[in-house]
Amino acid sequence: MRLDLHEIISAPGSVPFEYEADVSGMDFPGVEKPLSTLTASGKAVNTAGLLELDGEARVSLSCRCDRCGESFVMDKRVSVHAVLSEEIQDEDNPDIFPIEGDGADLDEIIMTAYVLSMESKLLCKPDCLGLCDKCGANLNNGPCSCRSEGDPRLAKLAQLLDSKE
Ligand SMILES: [Zn+2]
Ligand SMILES: [Zn+2]
Repeated sequence: MRLDLHEIISAPGSVPFEYEADVSGMDFPGVEKPLSTLTASGKAVNTAGLLELDGEARVSLSCRCDRCGESFVMDKRVSVHAVLSEEIQDEDNPDIFPIEGDGADLDEIIMTAYVLSMESKLLCKPDCLGLCDKCGANLNNGPCSCRSEGDPRLAKLAQLLDSKE
């Protein structure tokens, strides 16, 4: 989707936008499927000749925890920030997007922010305890029987010996 900037390209002002895209075709590690379309809203503003776009994208994703393997729903919010420029001087700055004609490519800006926001490992919660490497129990549901007793140093040793088998 193209955002028409002609109103603000050479005059102060702002242009609001609403955006929606189907992201079911995009694969990310740990993401099972999107549960909603990706929507975004925000505005492009010309402040003293500098054109900037700010907004927020939202999508609900069904994910699989990298540590415990459980499915969970992530309501993801991504802040979108772009500097819009007719001349790209700094090719390495990922925040700068071109103005083509008198518009900007919203798909590119929002999808870039979305892709960059995805972590390579998704956790159901930051302190997910994962699975017991011995019995496979989900330790978020409470300690398993093989961990509840004994000297933790001996347990560690037992684990090491186990893993050598
Ligand atoms: Zn987890
Ligand atoms: Zn266990």
